[in-house]
Amino acid sequence: MVSFYPNILQNMSSMSDKALKCPLCGSRALSVNGKISTKEIILDYNNRLGIDVSSVFKNLEEVTTYHCRECDYKFYYPFDLMGSDQFYAELSRKEWYYLPWKWEHLNSLNYIEDGFKLLEVGCGRGDYLRELKKHRKVEVTGLELNHLALEGNEDLDIRLESIQEHASLFPDSYDFVCSYQVLEHLSFVEEIISAMTTCLKPGGQLLISVPNNDGFIGKNAHPGSFLNMPPHHMGLWGENSLKSLERYFPLKLKSLVKEPLQKIHYGPYHHTYLKSLFNGFSLPKSIYFRLRLHKLAEFVMSRRASKIIGHSIIAVYTKA
Ligand SMILES: [Zn+2]
Repeated sequence: MVSFYPNILQNMSSMSDKALKCPLCGSRALSVNGKISTKEIILDYNNRLGIDVSSVFKNLEEVTTYHCRECDYKFYYPFDLMGSDQFYAELSRKEWYYLPWKWEHLNSLNYIEDGFKLLEVGCGRGDYLRELKKHRKVEVTGLELNHLALEGNEDLDIRLESIQEHASLFPDSYDFVCSYQVLEHLSFVEEIISAMTTCLKPGGQLLISVPNNDGFIGKNAHPGSFLNMPPHHMGLWGENSLKSLERYFPLKLKSLVKEPLQKIHYGPYHHTYLKSLFNGFSLPKSIYFRLRLHKLAEFVMSRRASKIIGHSIIAVYTKA
């Protein structure tokens, strides 16, 4: 039986912290979008992944989701709940967590040309950069703050350095700056996007790929939906918040592409779709599987996958 978090309070409009600003656009036009019990998040990480995240929340009882009415970005508060190196090392041991070459990587080839000087922010083990060099003659640099991910990457120029530090050393230096599944893990996104933009040459391109909360991820009813919360995710991106970057940075949106549903996400999509279809009611699992309805659902998803909005969204901008 699939369950939503029972104590998510929808559409509360009051705000407890009047001084709080949107970490993307700086606006104070914020609404409380929901509250989540930290006890439930801790239980889910323990029971489903065997990871203890209790030290992240300390004595905190609830995490608040805010919505910025100015830029449409949603974020979790407090801001200091981001996962540690150790947390990501534990997650990376799960075979499903890290896929070296995905839809978003293939899609990036539409924008990257031979001769480009390219920077990847949050490059992990450098798998994307290594594979990219097989497709394009590019000069690549990667930044990674998790020292645990750096071992054995001597073949690439990967630096243990923040994007802010890198921007102060190499302004106007790159033709292409990209980050895949990075921004949603961070609280202070304005600083990061600003530094990425600084690193670009005028006319250079910025590619941001994040989970698309306008799709099934945003109303995810799958038991794994706690992965869209702290300490894993700190922000919830969608089409509007990505479009809004044009207003706050010297960037012009060039393209916005939504990932079609991938096979690896059939499970969460299926759960979420059934939940909304039956408005909270779901068949007991045993009957569902005995009737082989999961096979039917899989078949329907495979036929319609290209038309279904999947996990991620890619925004590509040009620096003015
Ligand atoms: Zn905002």
